[in-house]
Amino acid sequence: MKALTYTDSHPTDALLRAERFPHIWCPGCGIGNAVRCYVAAMEASETPLDKHAVVSGIGCSGRVAGYVNIDSYHTTHGRPIPFATGLKLMKPELEVTVFSGDGDLITIGGNHFIHAARRNIDLNILFVNNFNYGMTGGQFGATTPHAARTTTTPYGNYEQAFNMPLLAAAAGAPFVARWTSLHVRQLRAAIERAFEVDGFAFIEIISPCPIGFGRKNRFADAMDEMGHFREGAIVDHDADLREVGVTMRREDPIVVGNFVDKEVPSYNTGKSRLLERVLRGSK
Ligand code: SF4
Repeated sequence: MKALTYTDSHPTDALLRAERFPHIWCPGCGIGNAVRCYVAAMEASETPLDKHAVVSGIGCSGRVAGYVNIDSYHTTHGRPIPFATGLKLMKPELEVTVFSGDGDLITIGGNHFIHAARRNIDLNILFVNNFNYGMTGGQFGATTPHAARTTTTPYGNYEQAFNMPLLAAAAGAPFVARWTSLHVRQLRAAIERAFEVDGFAFIEIISPCPIGFGRKNRFADAMDEMGHFREGAIVDHDADLREVGVTMRREDPIVVGNFVDKEVPSYNTGKSRLLERVLRGSK
């Protein structure tokens, strides 16, 4: 029998800043899985690591920029998309990924999101949705489902939540997907596809936040919340996006899949083509 050998290295060491560990994430948090899928997709991509860059804002998901061992930008709250847009416009050869949570990306930064999708800026948006502001104490935000309890909606949220795949598709994103942080193979494959897409590639990653969200919403523990996301999910790539909003009813499925994948010239591609036509003197 082959003797077991032990090592203090890990296959992802080259991609992570292990000297910054232990990380800040709580036991059962889904962000770690999402990061694992992201770095695995980078390893598999044809783009060299020194051409990948990640931009994060503030929040638990925002810490990713500090942990991934590539060129990283940890920016102000709600503003990772404007920073990433500037980076992509000035350095179009970079594969730029925004890694952000729901409070940062869509509650504070929602206006940037819809306009970057409309302009079809060539960014990969890895959007961890755990339905609350985890880092700052579990307040509700724009993706908190109706009736969910949070620190600031102790009797239930009376607002309606954004249905993110529908919003992204309606704003013009050519690639729209949703997986949970437990669908690791599908999520990794979707991220690899996002790298290939010339345009705004959006992936919603439904993720457990047992500390901020789960325990206020009657999930017994992290395993219970994870089980709900894994077993309550159904794959339907052709789903009607008007019907995929997430609710608090346990009997309602979480619809996941690669919903939109179409070719639309990105902002940079469209601008280059226009410039060529202008220089040729044609209309
Ligand atoms: Fe994860 Fe929630 Fe803990 Fe933040 S508060 S690290 S999102 S479990």
